Amino acid sequence: MATNLKQLTQNEELLCGGHRACAGCTGSNILRQIMLTAGKDTVVGGATGCMEVVTTIFPYIAQTTPYHWKDLAMKVEKALATDGPAFLNLLMPCTPGWHFDPAIGIDLAREAVECNFWPIFEVENGVYKINKKPKDKMPVADWMKKQGRFKHLFKPGNEHVLESTQAFVDKEWEKLLKLEESAS
Ligand code: SF4
Repeated sequence: MATNLKQLTQNEELLCGGHRACAGCTGSNILRQIMLTAGKDTVVGGATGCMEVVTTIFPYIAQTTPYHWKDLAMKVEKALATDGPAFLNLLMPCTPGWHFDPAIGIDLAREAVECNFWPIFEVENGVYKINKKPKDKMPVADWMKKQGRFKHLFKPGNEHVLESTQAFVDKEWEKLLKLEESAS
C-alpha cells in the first residue's frame, strides 16, 4: 500500500467531483485521502452528517412528523418510487431528551407543525410544496413550554430569547413560502 505522497496522488481518484460541501470543507479532503489509500472495493459509511448528504443529489426531499401518518405514508411511497436518492426528515419527539409527559409525544409532533417550527413540505426535483399551512398559528413558546428542556427560558429575564426564537421561526416560514411561490 502506498504511503508516500507522490505515489498516493497517482492512485485512482474515487471521490467524484461535483460534491456540495462548503468551500474549504476538510471533510471531502478526508474522504479523498481515505479513498486514495484504501482503493476500490471499499464501502465508506458514516454517522449522518454533511459527508453523507453533500456527495449525493436528492431528486426528492420531504419533511413531516409521525402525527401526520397519511402524509408520512405518501412521502415514504414517493421516496421509494424516486429514481435516485431521496431524503425524509422526520421530527422525533424524545421523552428523556426533551423532558415531556410521555402521554404527549405525538401531540408535540402535531404542535411543532402548528407553530411553524417544523413545516411539512416536500421538494420534488427542486420544486417546493408546503403540504400543510396552519390556519391559526400557535406561538412557538406554547409548544416549548411543554418541554422541560426549555424550562429555563420561561424564567424572568429570558423573554428576549423566546421573542427571538419566534422571530427566527417566522422568518424561516416566510422563506419557505417564498420558495414555494417561486415554483408557481
Ligand atoms: S462539515 Fe459540512 S458544514 Fe462543515 S464545512 Fe464541511 S460541508 Fe460545510
